[in-house]
Amino acid sequence: MRKGPSIRASGFTESVIREMTRLCQAYGAVNLAQGFPDFDPPVSIKRAAATAISKGYNQYSTTYGAIGLRKAIARKMKTYNHIDCNVDEITVTCGTTEGMIASQLALLDRGEEVVIFEPFYENYGPDAILSGAKCRYVRMKEPDFKIEEESLKQAFNRKTKAIIINTPHNPTGKVLSRQELGLIRDLCQDYDSYAITDEIYEHILYDGHDHVSIGSLPGMEDRTITISGFSKTYSVTGWRVGYVVASKPLTSAIRKVHDFLTVCAPTPLQEACTAALQLPESYYEHLRENYRKGREMLVDSLNDAGFGVFQPEGAYYVWTTTNDTGFRDDRDLAMHLITKIGVGGVPGSSFFHNPLHGRLRFRFSFSKKPETIRRAIKRLEKFSPKRHGARSSHAKTRGLAVSAGL
Ligand code: GLN
Repeated sequence: MRKGPSIRASGFTESVIREMTRLCQAYGAVNLAQGFPDFDPPVSIKRAAATAISKGYNQYSTTYGAIGLRKAIARKMKTYNHIDCNVDEITVTCGTTEGMIASQLALLDRGEEVVIFEPFYENYGPDAILSGAKCRYVRMKEPDFKIEEESLKQAFNRKTKAIIINTPHNPTGKVLSRQELGLIRDLCQDYDSYAITDEIYEHILYDGHDHVSIGSLPGMEDRTITISGFSKTYSVTGWRVGYVVASKPLTSAIRKVHDFLTVCAPTPLQEACTAALQLPESYYEHLRENYRKGREMLVDSLNDAGFGVFQPEGAYYVWTTTNDTGFRDDRDLAMHLITKIGVGGVPGSSFFHNPLHGRLRFRFSFSKKPETIRRAIKRLEKFSPKRHGARSSHAKTRGLAVSAGL
């Protein structure tokens, strides 16, 4: 018997994104690290939540989701994602986060392989460790992060059970094209693999980019697990309501895992999410327009501050290179920005399986009110590139976090 934590839990570190939020709070920095809005959702859906509580929606819902919400999700999947599904192919989960881990636990076995594009949202690594599958990483190449057929082909083999897709992509802002998704589809068919797709940023798009769901491509109907949620589209990241759409046999496995993990998503908030799905088209247009403005403000300011910026096509992050900032270590840069400049971001290393690959990369989020972004911009004016030493180490900055009591 092994004393102390399991090998499984020892296999990964705590979330750097959440750590950065705690540091921002401790040092009073503007938090452009964790991607959550600092503004409220529409009044109508806040009211719907309050009404649901006062009307008695306070006990467990059906474990896989309230029927009204699943009906509304099925309609949205048809009109927005062009995926035909019925209420028996939908599982409502505690956020997309639970949707992803429940899907991986339901699909993957030890010894099987899962393909992950890199850089990747930090949850996917621990998810794969928890499911026991082995990760194969495929680099999305700068500057346009295009999916290259050759490197993708090399990652697939007879053990490949699934590929994890995320479009619009966190952290790069890349929106996968129909043609790129077609390449993935062909490989999934050739190797009899599944696509698990995280589409949480599906409504946040710029410059005429369209969202394409791989599950809508012919041949992918029974091979796709589509995961999305309400957090980002309706600015309710704390509500924890997401959903998974998959064929009946897959859904039945996902529902069992979900039931034993969490029983159900919060009942009154499922009612409010049903109301959210009734919002008019203009809501989504405003959302996009506001984020477009935030993107412009932050991109300009980061350029001025000496960061190399990749213009995001979707989602609400700016992915940057830090070669010209004078910092050779992303955690040193994170600590300098938080403690000396008063702005938080996420060290690039947390988006790579080998941290060294992300030492000169950094992510900022613009999911904030215009005044919050302006405050960050004002502070970033004090950040002068190339004046900083390149000495310290990850260990030293970890020490700083510890001495701040975090
Ligand atoms: N998805 C958001 C991000 O990448 C929030 C992550 C989280 O803390 N759940 O920052």
